[in-house]
Amino acid sequence: MMRLPPFQFRTPGTIADAVAWLAENPETTMILAGGTDLLPNMKRRQQTPTTLIGLRGLRDELSTIRDADGVVIGAAVTLADLIASPEIQNRYRGLWQAAAQVATPHLRNMATVGGNLCLDTRCTYYDQTYEWRKAIDFCMKRDGRTCWVATSSPKCLAVSSTDTAPMLQALGASVTLASTSGTRVVPLDRFYANDGIHYLTKRPEELVTAVTLPRADGWQSAYWKLRRRGSFDFPVAAAAVAAKLDGTRVIEARIVLGAVSSKPQQADRAALLLQNHELTDELIAAVAAAASELAKPMDNTDFELVWRKKMVTSLVGHALHEVRGDDMRARRRQLARQELLSARPR
Ligand SMILES: Cc1cc2nc3c(=O)[nH]c(=O)nc-3n(C[C@H](O)[C@H](O)[C@H](O)COP(=O)(O)OP(=O)(O)OC[C@H]3O[C@@H](n4cnc5c(N)ncnc54)[C@H](O)[C@@H]3O)c2cc1C
Ligand code: SF4
Repeated sequence: MMRLPPFQFRTPGTIADAVAWLAENPETTMILAGGTDLLPNMKRRQQTPTTLIGLRGLRDELSTIRDADGVVIGAAVTLADLIASPEIQNRYRGLWQAAAQVATPHLRNMATVGGNLCLDTRCTYYDQTYEWRKAIDFCMKRDGRTCWVATSSPKCLAVSSTDTAPMLQALGASVTLASTSGTRVVPLDRFYANDGIHYLTKRPEELVTAVTLPRADGWQSAYWKLRRRGSFDFPVAAAAVAAKLDGTRVIEARIVLGAVSSKPQQADRAALLLQNHELTDELIAAVAAAASELAKPMDNTDFELVWRKKMVTSLVGHALHEVRGDDMRARRRQLARQELLSARPR
């Protein structure tokens, strides 16, 4: 049985206390939200904070979803509460789809929005027990010096594996960060860096308090995810699309790819091809192909990377069709079968 390493556990009753304690030793202190990612990582000694700050005492401040010229989602809102929200179901369909595909119902009861946004990047050589990693002399992300995915790479190439971040980014969301210096608001596209180790631009002493979504009038959104098991699994490629439509004409659109680099990749050039055009089958095919050019999957997660890259074109295409209003339910079922059939054995 894997055991947690020793740590001090602190439970603030106010945000002011939380950020003050975080500021004491930011490099060795971490926030514990649902713990569904951090605690397994600690057991595998991938992350070994000496102090954890629990958010349970801040539920009143961080666990609400409220209307405010858009919607403000507290960082400690669970994914189960997020997908139960009629507001999210009706107005931010893509976000509902993304959150509903995270892990399992049990995990979503604990897992939070803030934890999903700050989720550690993943890699075949890193998401292993301490003994496994020791046997390969560790790697650059933790305890070692070499990147086993690309031995000449100066940086870690671990994969951004959060489902909600690409969709929130496509919807134009921003995060509110609190620290002892005050609060600041950062658009989600500037919250991530393309570096498997330093994948957040957030400073270690900053607490995510909320995610704000702009109004969704006229916007449609969709999230498509490739994973091995349709019941639960991390994404190994994903497409998040949000578009403001006038009938079938696109006024504005954002496309963000998930799980194909160390940060959610915004495909602006492809999205621009949509602007002021009718969403025809031909345009969808061209935009999907253009978006997938950005995808640079590495051989450090499930499925063959060439197939993952090809699948990005399909995922973006499916999301665009869904945004147009096509009934994509049969396609979703087909994708689940394809995942299993095209997969090489683990
Ligand atoms: C079997 C299994 C399957 C999974 N499948 C998926 C999946 O398909 N898709 C997916 O996206 N995830 C998946 N996960 C990962 C995880 O369950 C989710 O990402 C979850 O949303 C993490 O939220 P949490 O509240 O549990 O975060 P925690 O584990 O508590 O924290 C995760 C990270 O975020 C930081 N953090 C948390 N809250 C804050 C805050 N407010 N401010 C600053 N930092 C903060 C923590 O310090 C830590 O670094 C899976 C996990 C398991 C065990
Ligand atoms: S990408 Fe390289 S450095 Fe990063 S976790 Fe994987 S093997 Fe380690």
